Formats: sequence, structure tokens, C-alpha cells
Amino acid sequence: MAKGFAKSIRDSLTRTRNAVFSRVASLLGTSEVTEETWDKLEELLVRADVGVSTTMYLVDRLRTRARDEAILQADELQRALREELRRLLPEPPSLNLGGREQDVVLIVGVNGSGKTTSIAKLAHRWKKKGREPLLAAADTYRAAAVEQLDIWAKRVGVDIVKGPERGDPGAVVYDALQAAQSRGNDMVIVDTAGRLHTQYNLMAELQKVHRVAQKIVDRAPHETLLVIDATTGQNALSQARHFQEAVDVTGVVLAKLDSTAKGGMVFAITRELDLPIRFVGTGETLDDLAPFDRDAFIDGLFG
Ligand code: GDP
Repeated sequence: MAKGFAKSIRDSLTRTRNAVFSRVASLLGTSEVTEETWDKLEELLVRADVGVSTTMYLVDRLRTRARDEAILQADELQRALREELRRLLPEPPSLNLGGREQDVVLIVGVNGSGKTTSIAKLAHRWKKKGREPLLAAADTYRAAAVEQLDIWAKRVGVDIVKGPERGDPGAVVYDALQAAQSRGNDMVIVDTAGRLHTQYNLMAELQKVHRVAQKIVDRAPHETLLVIDATTGQNALSQARHFQEAVDVTGVVLAKLDSTAKGGMVFAITRELDLPIRFVGTGETLDDLAPFDRDAFIDGLFG
């Protein structure tokens, strides 16, 4: 892991650290373990949006370890807590990208989550790595979304394929994949609708986009990344489940990590949705995207 990424993850955790984990550290820094320690720890973890179920699991594991390993000093507990947090974030396999003529990456998520910005950041990142991404503006339901994406495409310096307003998003994906094949783009990043008249329509549309991609490019989409707004906390989990029902989500981009004290969500997402966090948003500019690294993340939580 490059130093710069570790720093940007640490910086984006400032709020989470100050509001919660520095208190966890001082709770576990001095005293002896008492019943009150467990109650306070539980309260702090829930406050960091680790989620009730994941908090219960963690505190339970720690109580068991404290008993089995005869941990009496709270500072030893801090080490155990870090280990348990690390265990909650298993190292995922690498992204399923590269080694084929075209990678297709579908980006899903509700409006306002940071989807457009995250697409721009990803395109920028992959372009810097020598890829030639093309953007497909398949959120035809929102004219503003197409405009925004167009502006970002120019800034990043990548191609974009758009359709008519309220046009068929499946047709945009079809055109984009054809265009990519004829222009030699080795990657297509597809923006999708984040809201339609009904949840049912939205999910049907995402499934259709998925099917069109699959028809044109073998085994596409190769990655389906769900953008989650870190500031929304636990509500984001139920939203995420809707998307998981509609399409085969393969990972998460956690946007706006820098704007929230709810960084503990990373544990709930990984454990309760069983999805790897792939990237975190660390600010509003193109470079403010860090690949997720669990050790940098856990170090960043405790400072
Ligand atoms: P969309 O509606 O999901 O496409 O959301 P946008 O990409 O337009 O983002 C919504 C707002 O969140 C914009 O003001 C972005 O600048 C902001 N935003 C997106 N990602 C981040 C991030 O990682 N950090 C911060 N601080 N702001 C972000």
C-alpha cells in the first residue's frame, strides 16, 4: 500500500476517529475491564455505525476472549479489538478486471450517494493506470445526471456515449459497448438510474441493463459496484439489499467517508451485506478516491 493512500484514508477518518474511536482507545487505554467497560464499548461502537448486530457480535467475541485469555487490563482489550475488527474485513480477491478485450463495470446506487462523482474518480484512476475507459450515460431518467457525467467526462478526458432524455437505457448500453468495440476502448463504465417512479421499475431497469451488457460482452458486467453514501449510516444497508436483489453486486464504493463520523459502517457492510469495500471517497476532487486497505483503515480509526 502506497503511503499516500494510507494518509488519505487516515485523513478521511478524522471525524470517525475524533467522535468515536479515540474514545474507544481511551476507554481501553487505562482502566481495568469491568461490566461498565463492555456497556461503554457497545455504546461507542453503535455510535460509530458499526451496526447493532455487528456490535453485539464484536462485544461478544471480546468478552469470550477476555475470559479465555484472562484479559484483565483494558489496554490488552484494545489489541484484541483491533484483531477482531481486522477479522471482520477479510481480504477480497482482486477486482475482476483486465485480461480481456473489454471490461464492463456497472455502477449502481441511489441518487445523491455520490455515484456520478465516483464514476469520474474511477475513470480518472483507471485512465492514469493506462486504461481507456468510455462512459455510458444510462441514467436517462435524470437529464441533470447526463449533463453532470458529460462535464466530468470532459474534465477527465474520456469518451462518453449518451442517449436521448428518457430514452431506453438498454439502448445506451448497447451503443456504448458497440462504440467501445469500434474505437478500441478497453473499458466501459456504465452509470445507471438511481431512482425511477417505483422501486420495481428501477430494479427491472437495472436487470435489463445487466442483460444487454451480457449479450454483447461475454460475462459482462465484470464488476458491479454499489455506491453507498457513508453519511447515511445504517439506512444505507436496507437500500443496498434492494440492489443486491436486483443485480449481482460485487463490491462497494463508500463515498463521502471524509464527511462523516459513521466510518464504522465499513464493518456492517462487509459483515451484514457480505460485500467487499473496494474504494472509499475521501473528498470532492478527482483524486479523492482511495482503494480500500483494511490495515490502513484500522490504523486510521485509532490514529
Ligand atoms: P449522485 O447523485 O449519486 O450522482 O451524486 P454526486 O456524484 O452528484 O454527488 C453528490 C454530492 O456529494 C456532490 O456534492 C459531490 O461533490 C459530493 N461527493 C461525492 N463523493 C464525495 C466524497 O467522497 N467526499 C465528499 N466530501 N463529497 C463527495
